[in-house]
Parts: sequence; C-alpha cells; structure tokens
Amino acid sequence: MSELFVKKYNSRTPKSKKHHKEAEKFAPGGIQSLIRCFPPHPFIIAKGEGSKIWDIDDNEYIDYCMSYGPLIAGHSHPKIVKAITEQAKKGTLYGAPHEKTTLFIKELLKRFPTMDKFCLTNSGAEANAHVSRVARAYTGRDKIMKVEGCYHGASDYLEISVGPPIEEAGPVEAPRIYKESEGIPDDASKNTVVVPYNDPYIVEQMFRKHEDEISMLILEPILLNSGCILPKKNYLRDLRKITRENDALLVFDEVKTGCRIGPGSVSEIYKVKPDMVVLGKAIGGGLPLAAFGGTKKIMEKIAPIGKVRHSGTYFGNPLSVAAGLTCLRDIMNRRAYAYMNRLGKELLDGVKDVVSDSGVKATVSGIGSVGIIFFNDALPVDYRSAVISDQELWYKYWISMINEGVLISGNTWHQTWF
Ligand code: PLP
Repeated sequence: MSELFVKKYNSRTPKSKKHHKEAEKFAPGGIQSLIRCFPPHPFIIAKGEGSKIWDIDDNEYIDYCMSYGPLIAGHSHPKIVKAITEQAKKGTLYGAPHEKTTLFIKELLKRFPTMDKFCLTNSGAEANAHVSRVARAYTGRDKIMKVEGCYHGASDYLEISVGPPIEEAGPVEAPRIYKESEGIPDDASKNTVVVPYNDPYIVEQMFRKHEDEISMLILEPILLNSGCILPKKNYLRDLRKITRENDALLVFDEVKTGCRIGPGSVSEIYKVKPDMVVLGKAIGGGLPLAAFGGTKKIMEKIAPIGKVRHSGTYFGNPLSVAAGLTCLRDIMNRRAYAYMNRLGKELLDGVKDVVSDSGVKATVSGIGSVGIIFFNDALPVDYRSAVISDQELWYKYWISMINEGVLISGNTWHQTWF
C-alpha cells in the first residue's frame, strides 16, 4: 500500500530526487542534519513564506513542521526580515558586547522571572553542554541524570538513551545506558544515569543508588522528543522535592517548549521552579540562538566571576539577537500567544474528531500549538509506551499528507506539529 504513496511522491518531486542524488555525492546522505533524510528522498526547499514552503518542483506545502519549532512567527516574518536587514547594515558580528544582548536578556527575564541571569549560545546543544559543566562545578559532582526519550542535543554526556531500540533499553527501573552515536566514549557515558519519564519513584531509587554523585537531573518537562507526553499530576513537583533533598540541580530543557507553549515556560504552567532553564528554537525567531539561565548563585559559577568557561565566536551575535528580540518583544505578545493557542486547540480538536471518526487505532496528544497523532491504543506516558506507535502506519500517514500538500511534522514518528 505504501508503495502507492511513494509512487505519487516520486511523481511530484523529480527535481528534488535529481538534486538529492547530486547532493549525496558531496555530503553524507546529501543532508546537513541527520533527521532531514527520509525515504524515498527529501524534497528540496526553494523558499518559505508565512505558513507555507515551496519545493524546487513548485509544490506548495502548508508547513506545520516550522523547522522543528523555531519559526514561531512563520517564515520570513516582515518584522524579523526588517530587523535582520537593518542589523546587517550595521554589522553582522562584532566579537564584542552590544546593547541588544542586554535588551534581549531582559526580555527573557520578563518571561522567566524565577531566573536571575542568562548566557547566550547559538544552539540548544551548546547551551546544554554548558549547563552540564555549570551543574558539575556547582555541586562538585560528575554524574548527570537524564530521562529516557528526552533529547538535549549532540553532547557526549547527553546524547544517551534518546531513542533506544526497546530490546536494548534494559529494565524500566534501571534503563541501560544506550549511546545514540558511535564515538561517544565510555568515559562520558559512564557518568550518565538514565531514568524513565513520569516516574518519580525510580528517580528517588536512582538518587539513593548514586548517593552524593549526581550533579543535576535534566529533562524536557513536557516530553516533546518522544511525541507530546504531558507530565502526570505532581510529577514535576516530586522531581523538585527529590532533587532538593539530594542537593542536585533540577534543569528544565525548554528548547522546544520555552516561549512556545506560552509566553514563558512550562514551570509557569505547572508552578514548579527549576534551578536552571535551557531555551532555544522559538527565542531566535528562526535564527540560531539559544540560552541558559539560572539563579544568581548558580550563574556566578561562570567566568569571569567563577571558573566555568562560556565562550564562542558567534555567541550573542547581533543578527540572531536582533531577530530574537523582534520576535519576542514585537511579535509574540500575549495576544499573539492567545491567538496561536486558540488555533492550536482548533487543530487538535479537529484532528481528534477525524481520528475518532476514522476508526484507526490512534490517540492524539497536544498542548498549545503543539500536537501529534500516536498510532497506539493508549496515550503514552513515557518513551517506552510511545515508541510502540505503529511506525509503518505513521509513515503512510505522513507521506500521504505531504502528497496532499501538508507537511504535518518533521519526518519521524515522534515529531509534533508546531
Ligand atoms: N533540547 C531539546 C529539547 C531539543 O528539542 C533540541 C533540538 O531539537 C535540543 C536541545 C538541541 O538544540 P539544537 O538543535 O539547537 O542544538
């Protein structure tokens, strides 16, 4: 059956196919980030504008992937284009402080009032790598606890047990450390402890097992890299209590949820205050920009006050900061979030109706402007109950949506619409 969909896809995208074949000669897989490749071949983008993208075969798509989240104001929002054009005329990179950085961080602090200071990076992965160091320096401990199914970017300590094959994942109460990439040294992964999502009891047991060894518990408070899995009642609150009792930092990786689910954070919605927060994607309005923040005492571990290095040629670059500032300050005000979330609810309710009328074995989950169909019997509560989603059926749904001109999400079963 899926061959029919693939045949249709091929017939719509001959130029993309040709280009991809050429690209494969010059870059591994013909792509620049693993997730961009899918069978039979990716379509090649010609341009994006507002809610739409076009490929080089002139197919138009409604874009619900939005580059996996960052494009909260859509493609080429006129205010963002204006901001980066004006900034480009004044210089794209200084390698020195500039005023917009402070304005931008003030905007973040308005949205994350429980944080005292922020540092900027270009990507979520870099921000998380810095957070790992800060947590270790602050606590004097080397181990990191992470949650199975959560993604925190490409760093050796964190790209662990993001999407382990279920047969290699070990028992749920003591998940096996699964390295997501060749090249991650044992020396790094031996310092990572993995726990399942939505189970504070196992977290407590793991802290007991690794007493005085764990520097931080890091997680996506709403698990968006295994679909869209919401925290059970009191889960985040329990994590707060357990980390405090064990003198470990609680870090919310809100790269996907921050400034997306609402103006601020998941912690605002669930009334739980982490020690540190990591932001990315939506805060840059489509340009590379990420941030990590914490309380004053924690952030003062960073040089030149403390001894944790935070340095990067492009950190706080004026183009990204100009785009981010315009996106957060001038576009995504409270009214814009209310409007976006109302549209998100309409979409979610509509999809739920369609799924229920279709009789297909599937469940639908979402929050705000984010959502997903799981081809499962029951709503997942963690990675393991999500990964049993029928991935073949998912692919048929996903590629046939593309054939109808709708890019409903990124190209794996656990990617959400934005
Ligand atoms: N953290 C989360 C929750 C993410 O979803 C991602 C990327 O998707 C990252 C971190 C890594 O961010 P980046 O791709 O900007 O390095």
